[in-house]
Amino acid sequence: MVPTVTFADILRARELLAGHLPPTPMWSYPALDEVVGAHVLVKHENVQPVGAFKVRGGITLLAGLGPDERARGLVTFSTGNHAQSVAYACAVFGASCTVVMPAAANPAKVRAVRALGATVLLDGADLAGAQARAQDVAEREGRLLIGPGDTPELIAGVGSIYLEVFEARPDLDAVVVPVGSGTGAAAAGLVAAELAPRCRVIGVQSSASPAAHDSWRAGECVHRPDRTAAEGLATGRGFALPQALMRTGLADFHLVPDERIAQARRLLAGYAHTLAEGAGAAALAAVLESPGEFAGRTIAVVCTGGNASPSELADLAERA
Ligand SMILES: *Cc1c(COP(=O)(O)O)cnc(C)c1O
Repeated sequence: MVPTVTFADILRARELLAGHLPPTPMWSYPALDEVVGAHVLVKHENVQPVGAFKVRGGITLLAGLGPDERARGLVTFSTGNHAQSVAYACAVFGASCTVVMPAAANPAKVRAVRALGATVLLDGADLAGAQARAQDVAEREGRLLIGPGDTPELIAGVGSIYLEVFEARPDLDAVVVPVGSGTGAAAAGLVAAELAPRCRVIGVQSSASPAAHDSWRAGECVHRPDRTAAEGLATGRGFALPQALMRTGLADFHLVPDERIAQARRLLAGYAHTLAEGAGAAALAAVLESPGEFAGRTIAVVCTGGNASPSELADLAERA
């Protein structure tokens, strides 16, 4: 049977998460609204314990494992935030964790994963290279291999964001969701269909890494060059499970250049006292890129993460 995810799974995930993560705030900033020309609600996943929304998925996954599975230990592969999420959840539940990150991973994220108690292996030129090494570790050590994209529990867990968003604001015209593998956007579509059917769920990816976008447009998973500086959006291929859910769940899917993402990062710093990493600013970048489409509307932008790289921090210092 092909695994899938339902609204009921997302409701269950919220119960699993309740003792671990409080709901995150969603605020608007009048000065930001003036610059953007729309009423923008920023959903602050940057304030999660690992600095990104993915921790909701990691905790949901670990909470649902039996003691035998936890005892085997886990292995995963990631450019950073999925790694931190799984490492954090393994620490909470006392499971051993190995993470393979690409050799050029953001050193701040590598430090954070190690500090959470995980073993980090730096291997591979990109996510695909890290995946090959993680599969090898899983086979040799008997660890449970956790893929960042096609794991239903991760989608159910991150879906809890959208319960919070739509229960607070069922009147939204649109919610814009940054996409890498598509777990977050897939979950957003499932929740919107139940709680806010007239709200448009819009995905956004960098035009320098358009694999998820192009897969959605093509109706099948494709490979594409992967050159964005925004780590959370950096995937070179479509992932089947989130793509299947996004096919019915998304009203539209935008691409934005990395330079627009950088502008959005600066606006969040200057007008919303928010430190966003590139991926965390991509939703606002999509609004900036298409001002006519969003003018005068009420839009939620999900600030998915705040783990800015050294070069993103330097750019803010110079240009915010
Ligand atoms: C992983 C990540 C994304 C993309 O999420 P997917 O569920 O992989 O589409 C966006 N922003 C940040 C900060 C991330 O870490």
